[in-house]
Parts: sequence; C-alpha cells; structure tokens
Amino acid sequence: MMKQPIYEGKAKMMYTTDNADELLVYYKDDATALNGLKKGTIGNKGTMNNKISAFFFNLLSQHGIAHHFIRLVSDREMLVKSLEILPVEVVVRNISAGSLAKRIGWEEGRKMPQTVVELYYKDDDLGDPMINHYHIRALGLATDEQVHAMEEMALKINEILSAYLLTKKIELIDFKLEFGVHKGQVLLGDEISPDTCRFWDSETKQKLDKDRFRRDLGDVEEAYKEILRRLTGEEL
Ligand code: 5GP
Repeated sequence: MMKQPIYEGKAKMMYTTDNADELLVYYKDDATALNGLKKGTIGNKGTMNNKISAFFFNLLSQHGIAHHFIRLVSDREMLVKSLEILPVEVVVRNISAGSLAKRIGWEEGRKMPQTVVELYYKDDDLGDPMINHYHIRALGLATDEQVHAMEEMALKINEILSAYLLTKKIELIDFKLEFGVHKGQVLLGDEISPDTCRFWDSETKQKLDKDRFRRDLGDVEEAYKEILRRLTGEEL
C-alpha cells in the first residue's frame, strides 16, 4: 500500500493509500490539552484509541449510522473513507461537566434535564470557539441540510452509545463528534475514544477518560485500558 503523509494532527496522522477514496489513519500516543498548551504522551494510547474507535464504529454500523471507518489495518492503524471534513465540531451532553459546567455555573455531575447539543468552529488558532447556526450560515461552514444531518446523527449516536455503555457500567457524560462529506453524503468521521468522550464509572463515578490527563489525576493509561477491557474484553 502506497503511503504518503497528508496530515499530522495532535493525536493522529493521515496517509493516502493507492485508492483515492480511502485514507489510512495512524493513532499516536501523543496527548495535548488546553488547546495544545499541555503536552504529553499516554502509553499505548494510540493502540487503545484505534481499537476503541473501531469498536464504536462497528456498534454504530449495527444501528445504521453512516461513518468513515472501513476496517482495522494494524494495532495503530485503521482504513477510512476519505472525507471533506466539515469545520464544525458537534458536542452532545447528558451530564454537566467541563466547559458547560463552567458556562452555566453548575457543579459537575448534574443530569441535564434535556440533552444539550453544542456546535464549535473547528479552528485551532481560535481555540475552537462555540458558534451557532447563524455563524455557520454566515461563514458558509456547512449547509443547513448538513447541520441538520449532523445534529440528528449526533442525537442518535448519543442514544446508541449511552444505552450500550450502561450495560458496561459506564456513564456517557458528553462527547465530541466530527463529520465530513464523502460522495455527497454526510458521514461521521474522526474517532470515538476516551480522548473525545467523558466516561464515568456508573457506580463509583470514577473518571475513565482524558480528564485524568487534563487534570493530572493520575492512572491515565489505566483508565483507557479499563475502557478497552470493558468494551472488548481485551487486556492490553
Ligand atoms: P468540554 O467543552 O467540556 O471541554 O468538552 C466536551 C466534550 O467534548 C468532552 O467529552 C471532550 O472530551 C470533548 N471535546 C470537546 N472539544 C474537544 C477537542 O478539541 N478535542 C478533544 N479530544 N475532545 C474534545
């Protein structure tokens, strides 16, 4: 397979393949937080996020969600459909935490009376500011139909993941999704992992996600391992 790097992000690298419709994603151990201000590595993160994301994409396939994942290629690599990424991040929240808790002045861990969907402008230089439908229209970031598709898919994904995770005694607090267009269709892209979701143990409320890195809580690698173990039974 011909491999040309086309993009290096904070946690992943993308390579072309000999098929113009497909890209190879390589998951790194690098971790950043606070918009790149805090840098580090998390042992085996690349391997674990590759496997965890593959698991979630396969679960979503069973429920009819269209996404970019094709198949795993190695411990750290997956083959995906090439996307024109829409520069809008979609965050779904079930329980107050993180920036929402700060913005509305709630303590973390309170159930939201309704699911909250937020949109952010995917732009590192600006620090991914929150935006609304008017900004998206004014800047031409996505069409109204695409925004509608992203929001509907995000809410459905929330239902599927929340219900499944509860069977593994994991509460889905919130998560961030990215979407792109492939042959005219809006597909879920990026990854679904402890880097992009908040996962709490449903009984102990222990954090099993990247907040352990962001907040220097320790046992970061163990948290990712625990998620992989509960989902796939795999011990790393
Ligand atoms: P918050 O806005 O509270 O910082 O994040 C909300 C949720 O979206 C969390 O699950 C967080 O992991 C995810 N999230 C939001 N923005 C980003 C981002 O730029 N990178 C990553 N990895 N996750 C994000």
